[in-house]
Amino acid sequence: MTSIPLQCRCGQVKGTAHDINPRKGLRVVCCCDSCQEFANHLGQESITLDQFGGTEVFQATQSQITVEEGQDKLHCLRLSKKGPLRWYTSCCNTPVANTISAKMAFAGIIHTFMNVDNRDEVLGPVKAYVQTQHAIGTPDYPTSSPKFPLGLIAKIIKNQLIENIKGRQTPSVFFGNDKRPRVKPIIVNL
Ligand SMILES: [Zn+2]
Ligand SMILES: [Zn+2]
Repeated sequence: MTSIPLQCRCGQVKGTAHDINPRKGLRVVCCCDSCQEFANHLGQESITLDQFGGTEVFQATQSQITVEEGQDKLHCLRLSKKGPLRWYTSCCNTPVANTISAKMAFAGIIHTFMNVDNRDEVLGPVKAYVQTQHAIGTPDYPTSSPKFPLGLIAKIIKNQLIENIKGRQTPSVFFGNDKRPRVKPIIVNL
């Protein structure tokens, strides 16, 4: 278990991801069009997407994330009315994390917000490359799944249930006690 420093590009937002276990970590590269659109909308595709349009996300829980500086600069958007809340920093548009809702422990930390060079060591290897149906070009990832593999979905749901029961939804830097996002999400209409 280790803690990893989190930081936006300009350094005004600083945080920590606690108790990261590389053996248990679920690190995924997602090529879906929504993840690409999020990076594009922020104008951060060059630092966020790999050459095939993939975004690397590490599945953590909300309570593992603390923000020590610049909490007021955490903003969020949705690409559709019901889509996940996608968090970024208002100071420099660094992609931060994806969350589903206050009730779900899940928080997928985007690699751009992690201030670590050796992600393979700290987070463990990338477990899956998903949604490659939306990839740019022909990816030469070690493995790839055109959609989201059912086995992985089952694993994520199981993890979620366990983490939800453990109460890992709170404390949350993203949602207040009233279960609402701490800032009003912007809905981006594609
Ligand atoms: Zn910043
Ligand atoms: Zn995606």
